[in-house]
Amino acid sequence: TTFADLGLDPKVLSAISDAGYTEPTPIQAGAIPPALQGRDVLGIAQTGTGKTASFVLPMITLLGRGRARARMPRSLVLAPTRELAAQVAENFDTYAKKTKLTKALLIGGVSFKEQDALIDKGVDVLIATPGRLIDHFERGKLLLTGVQIMVVDEADRMLDMGFIPDIERIFQLTPFTRQTLFFSATMAPEIERVTNTFLSAPEKVEV
Ligand code: AMP
Repeated sequence: TTFADLGLDPKVLSAISDAGYTEPTPIQAGAIPPALQGRDVLGIAQTGTGKTASFVLPMITLLGRGRARARMPRSLVLAPTRELAAQVAENFDTYAKKTKLTKALLIGGVSFKEQDALIDKGVDVLIATPGRLIDHFERGKLLLTGVQIMVVDEADRMLDMGFIPDIERIFQLTPFTRQTLFFSATMAPEIERVTNTFLSAPEKVEV
């Protein structure tokens, strides 16, 4: 399989080529085609397998040319820590550099004012840690009813950190019709329960 076989946007393919990647990793080859078909994906993969690109690349392609509306992000990525959220944001910048898609990173340690200004303008992709996202939501600065694609990254670490109730609450704030891409290194019973509740006939990709 090559990246060109996967159905990605040409602008994304060009950015991948600039980054020097020639061949999709197994999680990318497995997760990208069903994601592009609009299906939910349950990815069982460790960090280091290229899993970030396995959700960022189809997200960029699916968001395409649509326009973001004020305070209503079109997609959402949840990561357990500031560092992981920042890495997702860096990946997004690399792969979306030839598009006009916009992002905001909502993590602790950054002023609300700056983050509010971005959200007010409208962003295509919101990348956040769960607690910070809920803070913004409770301040009335954000609506999740426009989220078409939601990603949960490193769910097993979310579980270790006690974030599962936050994740469930955030799922409930997004539309029923959203597409969900869910990643975890392991499938603890608590995580299985969440995926059974919030994913719809997911394609399971295990690497
Ligand atoms: P991740 O598992 O998302 O943290 O990615 C691990 C590392 O693999 C990162 O440094 C990526 O830049 C790199 N990477 C992602 N996709 C590919 C690919 N298809 N070929 C080579 N390296 C990649």
